[in-house]
Amino acid sequence: MTSISYSKALPVVAEPDVLVCGTGVAGIGAAVAAARSGAKVLAVDRAGFAGGFFTNIIGSAFDGFVYEETGRPVVGGLVFEMLERMGVIEPGTGPSLKFNVNGDFTEVEKHPDRLIPRTDPERFKLASDRILTESGVNLLFHTQVADVITAGGRIDSVVLSNKAGLVAVRPKVVIDCSGDGDVAAWAGCSYEQAEGVQPMSIHFRVSNVKLTFELRRKCSDVLAKARAAGKIRPYGGPWPATFSGTDIYFNAVRTPGDSTDPEDWTRAEIDGREDAWRMFDLWKAELPEFEDAHFFTSGPTAGSRESRRIVGDYTLTADDVRTAKRQNDVIVLGAWRIDRHPQEASGYHDQPEVPPYDIAYRTLLPQGVENLLVAGRCHSATSEALASSRVTANSMGMGQAAGTAAAIAIGDNLNSVREVNIQALQSSLLDQGCILDPSGAMKQG
Ligand SMILES: Cc1cc2nc3c(=O)[nH]c(=O)nc-3n(C[C@H](O)[C@H](O)[C@H](O)COP(=O)(O)OP(=O)(O)OC[C@H]3O[C@@H](n4cnc5c(N)ncnc54)[C@H](O)[C@@H]3O)c2cc1C
Repeated sequence: MTSISYSKALPVVAEPDVLVCGTGVAGIGAAVAAARSGAKVLAVDRAGFAGGFFTNIIGSAFDGFVYEETGRPVVGGLVFEMLERMGVIEPGTGPSLKFNVNGDFTEVEKHPDRLIPRTDPERFKLASDRILTESGVNLLFHTQVADVITAGGRIDSVVLSNKAGLVAVRPKVVIDCSGDGDVAAWAGCSYEQAEGVQPMSIHFRVSNVKLTFELRRKCSDVLAKARAAGKIRPYGGPWPATFSGTDIYFNAVRTPGDSTDPEDWTRAEIDGREDAWRMFDLWKAELPEFEDAHFFTSGPTAGSRESRRIVGDYTLTADDVRTAKRQNDVIVLGAWRIDRHPQEASGYHDQPEVPPYDIAYRTLLPQGVENLLVAGRCHSATSEALASSRVTANSMGMGQAAGTAAAIAIGDNLNSVREVNIQALQSSLLDQGCILDPSGAMKQG
């Protein structure tokens, strides 16, 4: 490949204490926690709204929020606050409630008495806007992180691209919540990427469906028959979930590829839409529940479950997850199944359940850069462990911890985010209502 050299003086548009890159669930957690802990925060996102998966890909539930056996929460703090702001729970009631793992039909059928930590994307957008602005976070949407400039093992500046052109920001600490670990990778940090990363998916919404608990099985039967006849490409699930009763979104499209490869991501959009429409047409033709159904929307974008996994001071392993290994520097718990979507197979895959386990602060510390944290699905974990830790509630918890740690590092004038006092960090997280001890979640009854 040929290359060009390019040089340009960029205006420094901000010098915040903390720059949060990406306002998905991890980024919201990081920005809100850092701002509430006294830091001057700028948060940027390439989209026109915050929420990442919830709003950009269309998801409904905070997975990883509860221990399945008991229905008791393993993540607190900002996840409770988001549920309160969206009207899912009454303020202050979260710790005493029992929740379903998510809005999946089979789960709801199994535990009809448990609350579903489910939201719709528009409520999530509004609650995100409000929590970020009310916390004093400065926001720039439609702003993509384009490059990173490092000097002496630190990030000096982050280059942003938006309608003002290319601009620079010089933060004291950066929190990479881009999901893909863009900042850490471009700062030269080591990362791993599994050969068979989990497939990308575009979700789609169908309105006016007649909803029954049988719907999932019937949709699944139609797809299995079509796949066997070679009429459709590999698909996942399907996992239908509803926001309102007749408005169903389907997690079913499965496109192998790497979201950090621009061509793969483009293909995931184009192939994904083709596949979504094929599925809809099949259901419409074969199922009476779809008689009046309307293909309402796809996307907004195809989403990535797994891409770069930044190598941190500690790497969470599947053994840690399965054996619930305790960590002195625990900053959030995980509890979601080891949910590794295969690239080529169709239908439902094995999702071994796990006990509540510890996620260590060291998994948020990329090696070699002293003023950088990562949070969310790009944290340091093996591919198998990430199949559990990547989900929304735990990502928001990681973000909350990273934001709190960044503010402590700035408040204590530390040279490195590695020097943050772990007891002080944990004590601040507990004050914020976070859960660091699994014993409450293990209690039956
Ligand atoms: C199809 C699919 C289905 C899933 N289903 C579920 C589910 O049902 N339940 C569940 O809990 N989890 C689910 N997940 C997992 C979940 O989406 C993520 O793992 C989780 O949201 C991670 O949060 P995050 O904040 O780390 O990343 P994301 O939610 O991906 O957020 C990253 C944010 O960074 C922004 N961004 C990225 N790069 C840049 C850049 N260079 N510059 C500026 N902004 C940038 C993005 O716009 C986005 O807002 C699913 C994922 C996918 C893809």
